[in-house]
Amino acid sequence: MPILRQDVSTKEWVIIATERAKRPAQFVRPESDRRAEAETKFCPFCPGNEDKTPPEVLAYRKDTPPNSEGWWVRVIPNKFAALTPQGSLHRRHDLDFFPAMDSVGVHEVIVESPAHDLPIALMEEKQAAEILFAYRERFRKLREDSAWKAIIIFENHGERAGTSLLHPHSQLVATPMVPRDIRLRFEVAQEYYDDTGNCIYCVMLQKELEAKARIVGESYYFVAFHPFASRSPFETWILPRHHNSSFGSVEDDELRDFAAILRQQLRKLYFALNDPDYNFIIHAAPLEDEDKDYYLWHVQILPRLTTIAGFELGSGIYINAALPEATAAFIREARVDAKCLI
Ligand SMILES: [Zn+2]
Ligand SMILES: [Zn+2]
Repeated sequence: MPILRQDVSTKEWVIIATERAKRPAQFVRPESDRRAEAETKFCPFCPGNEDKTPPEVLAYRKDTPPNSEGWWVRVIPNKFAALTPQGSLHRRHDLDFFPAMDSVGVHEVIVESPAHDLPIALMEEKQAAEILFAYRERFRKLREDSAWKAIIIFENHGERAGTSLLHPHSQLVATPMVPRDIRLRFEVAQEYYDDTGNCIYCVMLQKELEAKARIVGESYYFVAFHPFASRSPFETWILPRHHNSSFGSVEDDELRDFAAILRQQLRKLYFALNDPDYNFIIHAAPLEDEDKDYYLWHVQILPRLTTIAGFELGSGIYINAALPEATAAFIREARVDAKCLI
């Protein structure tokens, strides 16, 4: 019998289709499905091509001038930005009815390392931490501007996740309104807090730790698990053990620990499923609500192993063909090949 499960943090239902359930090993990417060979194609993110991108807004480098080689993390405005800082924040109604406004905001690209084909799963832990320091630095800088109401940081890895550029990079978008999904998560958390006096994420984490079955990794500051109502196979959440709604206020030690567990989980997925396409998203509170007791910043990794079809689009109900308890067990046992570390 399939089971309906609800994600308490969004109230979304998912169907865990146990009858068509696949064994976790069936999601391994086939060897024939190799990534497009991009070595010969021009890459704007490789060292030496700094003048082919918009001027950098941040780079970690030693003794070399801006927009030249010698960096190890580089942040640049997105050349094809969905939102740009120019424009008016004024909201209008076209034909006195249709809400519209200029697409103002910030859209940046974080080039994660000078190496062209080194995903986070394969890089040194120290380099992964440098990427997160760059995220936090840009997050802190942008939240000073009261025009921006939310900041979303994410990575698209692979074509099914929305990128054709092989060179590992992530993105940051600051929006002039609180996007609906962020508002929804926040409202659900607020309602739970009003009803119970507790933070829904901290309670969820406690319950997952008690249940044990879906835990896939633990560190000093963080816990990684496959959530009870996973929307897709191998969906992974990483939650801080200590309550904090703001990604911007994470301390250095905690950020290094976060880099280690994020890399560990991406590494597990890389070796267990043969480099799957995935998105990861850092969920943080809306900028004006960063000090609240009821929202916990966290990360969601969504491997793109299945296709969204009409039922998902029509209902918002995802059908997951794998049991989170089974995928979690598979990941706990997955071996990572240390030799592949470049
Ligand atoms: Zn490159
Ligand atoms: Zn909490």
